[in-house]
Amino acid sequence: MEKPSQVTINSDGTLNVPDYPEIPFIEGDGIGPDIWRATRLVLDRAVTAAFGGARAIQWIEILAGEKAHARTGQWLPEETLAAIESHVIAIKGPLTTPIGEGMRSLNVAIRQKLDLYACVRPVRYIDPVPSPMRSPEKIDMVVFRENTEDLYAGIEWASGSEEAEALSEFLKTRMGAVLPDGAGIGIKPMSAKNTKRLVARAIAYALDHGLPSVTLMHKGNIMKFTEGAFNRWGYEVAKERFGDRTLTEAELYDRYDGTAPEGKVVIKDRIADMLFQQVLLRPEEYSVIACPNLNGDYLSDALAAQVGGLGMAPGANLSDKAAVFEATHGTAPKYAGLDKVNPSSLILSGAMMLDHMGWQPAAEQIRRALQTTVRAGTVTYDLARQIPGAREVSCSAFAEAVAENMGR
Ligand code: NAP
Repeated sequence: MEKPSQVTINSDGTLNVPDYPEIPFIEGDGIGPDIWRATRLVLDRAVTAAFGGARAIQWIEILAGEKAHARTGQWLPEETLAAIESHVIAIKGPLTTPIGEGMRSLNVAIRQKLDLYACVRPVRYIDPVPSPMRSPEKIDMVVFRENTEDLYAGIEWASGSEEAEALSEFLKTRMGAVLPDGAGIGIKPMSAKNTKRLVARAIAYALDHGLPSVTLMHKGNIMKFTEGAFNRWGYEVAKERFGDRTLTEAELYDRYDGTAPEGKVVIKDRIADMLFQQVLLRPEEYSVIACPNLNGDYLSDALAAQVGGLGMAPGANLSDKAAVFEATHGTAPKYAGLDKVNPSSLILSGAMMLDHMGWQPAAEQIRRALQTTVRAGTVTYDLARQIPGAREVSCSAFAEAVAENMGR
């Protein structure tokens, strides 16, 4: 019988990962080919270091962005989306957003078309990356950002447009709203269904990884029926689906004197502006943070800056059926083809992918070797300009150095 080569998904969401799975990759635009080449080398070496020849990834290229447009005339071919769906897992470099092509962003389009509703961004300090924090090692958080609704749903009309005027008229005459004349209007839809699946995923992650808390970040004091509802639905799903394994902060202090029993996750909530202060002043009190789309966009970049910048921050976009791992920065076109930039964001996203596949020993190889490499002062230009005495190497040489530090 032929050996299976595709990852499949069970009805309970668990994965069947064969020993030699086909994984599709999108190289990406701009610096994409450079960082993908570096990442592929590191991922392949990590799998070999962890499993000998008993496991290996069979990479298959799928097209999106400029390469897809040049070859097929389309920016995001249907076959690409179909391949991600059928292979369950994919990894991608950054994509240029074509201007004036009617597509808002290819990245947003991939997330929406595949219903990748959870954007997951772990934020952890890598010593000795320069950070504006006094104790950056206290930051160890994972942001779960809702990816499909909120002000990012793209429902908005320009000031003075027929649609904005018609909606304005409806809101004034039928709903009693007070609006300035000629306002542009954006709609902020937030639903119980989409909030609950996001928060449930964040709680399941905290439970699986033995993390102490999930914080619901919202601005419900002002936007009661959207952000306030996000908070309420978050607590509801914690009770409905994880009632025996979660407790509220009130229960923590009333019943357990402030110390959670083993195996229980504390659900807390914080107003968004206050949480921005807290992650600076008391970062050790936060581990998993679940938030609506816009809050999550701001918070994940702010946290990345607290540990030294986006060049090192990994990310994943998940649905119940597919997972796409990607660098969190853009295509940095001025460095395209120069073999210069830092590939760590995509490399660490690849490590998340290996975790997701259940290949944790390979993921650990990568995280350890990358830490060893940076600690030894072998870094790309972006870090070399900030770390006194560091040795600046190219993108590919950095990947080689990481690969060489595996198994040590
Ligand atoms: P960017 O590509 O992230 O680059 C901005 C700056 O960030 C670079 O000039 C560089 O700073 C630094 N940087 C980014 N990646 C780096 C890396 N790997 N190593 C070292 N430094 C790095 O942002 P942008 O210029 O605003 O966006 C360019 C294009 O990318 C746009 O078309 C945008 O739509 C797209 N984009 C795509 C994604 C995605 O695919 N997920 C995300 C964001 C943006 P220095 O010059 O100071 O060294």
